[in-house]
Parts: sequence; structure tokens; C-alpha cells
Amino acid sequence: MECLELDGSRGEGGGQILRTALSLSMITGTPFAIERIRAGRKKPGLLRQHLTAVQAAAAVCGAEVEGAVAGSQQLRFTPGPVRGGDYRHAIGSAGSSTLVLQTVLPALWFADGPSTLRVSGGTHNPAAPPADFLIRSWQPLLRRMGVTLDIQLLRHGFYPAGGGEVLAATAPVAAWQPLRLNTRGDLRRQAAVGVVAGVPAEVAKREMQRAAGQLGVLDEELRVLPSNEGPGNVLMLVLDYPEVSEVFTAFGERGVPAEVVADRAAREARLFRASGAPVGEYLADQLLLPMALAGQGSLTTTVLSSHLRTNCEVIEAFLPVRFSFEPLEQQVRVSVA
Ligand code: AMP
Repeated sequence: MECLELDGSRGEGGGQILRTALSLSMITGTPFAIERIRAGRKKPGLLRQHLTAVQAAAAVCGAEVEGAVAGSQQLRFTPGPVRGGDYRHAIGSAGSSTLVLQTVLPALWFADGPSTLRVSGGTHNPAAPPADFLIRSWQPLLRRMGVTLDIQLLRHGFYPAGGGEVLAATAPVAAWQPLRLNTRGDLRRQAAVGVVAGVPAEVAKREMQRAAGQLGVLDEELRVLPSNEGPGNVLMLVLDYPEVSEVFTAFGERGVPAEVVADRAAREARLFRASGAPVGEYLADQLLLPMALAGQGSLTTTVLSSHLRTNCEVIEAFLPVRFSFEPLEQQVRVSVA
């Protein structure tokens, strides 16, 4: 089959171009070559997290791979048939384990049998979906689309120590259901999840209290983890609507008061509430691939992000689908057919 040539510097020039290409190469059997991997990032090329995604992808389909070394800005990937099985991978740093899951899971939906996939590394990283985001926001929508999926957070892992672990069980999809997520219904519940590891519980309590001051009544969930799982502190604000749940995240940092951390997450949550859209910026780019795999669908989101546009382009390069964008007042509708 002809090899697709991809340019990793397109759009935001991040890791998502590579991850989406890996998923779709496995699913369609199309080999690809990518250059200028993550050219838009401070440390371009393959970091441990991306390398693990490549290795994990190669393991499930027996791919031939060239260029899979740390720092490489070029990669050639020739996939074989996807096999179900029990897979285990260690990133060996605090790189995002959830992004590795999101790379390999789509292929396993087209495998010859059920699978489990266990990945160790970071589970709550800036610039990646926290494990709780996958579990509370992404997974329920995939189930609605006909996907069998059970993601568990076995152990938290934060930058820089890592050491967390996520486990996913999944199976081939028998019948895809298109996703149509264009309304969200009225807000049903708000929750704050405050997590500390090797950081005083007081910090998470202050963050949750501050968030309640900004957003109104919140259910509070305090997770005090063993200090050897840290140091780490994360605040996640969960908004549950009938059609969707969204999760807004901020990380504690040395020298930044808990109140400032809370304000960062609360600001995002408030903007989302005010937008009226069912799908936030991050969830939108993470739903495009499953939506395209279902062959049709639409979602309404808050902004047309660069990640979203680039991801659409990569998907269109592999699959016989077309995305369209319809600007609405303070929202944009993305459809695929
Ligand atoms: P990239 O920057 O190309 O490596 O892609 C980062 C991925 O992480 C994208 O799919 C984003 O939607 C996702 N992401 C980044 N920040 C968050 C966040 N705070 N919550 C959920 N997902 C996120």
C-alpha cells in the first residue's frame, strides 16, 4: 500500500499529529512517514512518551518501524494486522500515560479479540488529559458510541517523578453509533476533586473552597495520596450535564498560592458554563477520531482550536471522510460525514 507522507510541523506542530497517524495507520493498514515531528515544541522530536506510543502501537500490530529513537524528528511506520491481547508498557518518565492509551485504544477497537492495556508513567500532566478526564468525560461518550471500555486509574503519577499507572480493558466494536453532541441540557452537578501527594491536605481544601466561591455549590472529593506518589497537587473541576461531563484542571506549583491554582481551573469552568456549548476545547479534539471511525457525527464546541483543525486534516488523509465547520454564536459545530 502507498505510504502517506506527513508533516509534523503543521498547525500547532505537537504530538497529536503523530498519535492520530499511528492510530489510523494501524486501523487502515496504511504505512506512513512523518518528518519534522513536534517541530512546534520547545523540545522537538520524540520524547519518551511519544516513543512509548510508537512502541505500544508497533506491539499491537507487529509494525516495522524506522526512526524510533529519542529525539528523532522522522519516523516511518509500516503496520501489520492488529491483534487483541494483554499489553503492558512503561514510559519510564512522567510522560503522559493517557496519551499512550488514546493512541493504541482506537486500534484495539478493530482487533481480532478483546484486550487489556496497562501503561505506567504520568497520569496527571499539564498539556495532556488527566486520567480522571478520560474516565469521567471521554469514556462515557465512547460507550455511547458502542465502544466497550473500562479505564482504571491504578496509581497517580505526577511530573517529574511519574510512577503512575492506568489500565484499560476494551474489545472490538460490533456496531458503531454516530455521536451527535450539539446540546448539553441543564447543569446537574458540580464537583471539585482535590488531589495531594506529599503536599498538605490543607492545600487541596483551600483550592476546593476557593473554587466553590467562584462557581457556587460543589461536591468535594479530597484525595490524600501516600507521599511517595508525589509530590503532586492537582485540582479538577467536574461539570455534569445530562449529555456530557467536562473536567477542568489546574496544577499546584511551588510558589503559586492554592487560590491562584483554583482560579485558573474555575476560570475555564466559568467560560465553559457561559458558552452554552456541550464540548470544551480539549474534549473536542479527542472526540474527532472516534467520530470519524463511526463514519458520521457532529459536535458543538467552544472554539475552533489549532489542534482540532490539524487533527481533522490528519484524519482526512487516512479515512474517506470530510469534516465541515459551521460557526454559530460563540460556538462552532463540527460535522463529519
Ligand atoms: P499535543 O499538544 O499535540 O501533544 O496534544 C495534547 C493533547 O492533550 C490534546 O488532545 C489536548 O486536547 C489534550 N489536553 C491538553 N490539556 C488538557 C486538559 N487540561 N484537559 C484535557 N485534555 C487536555
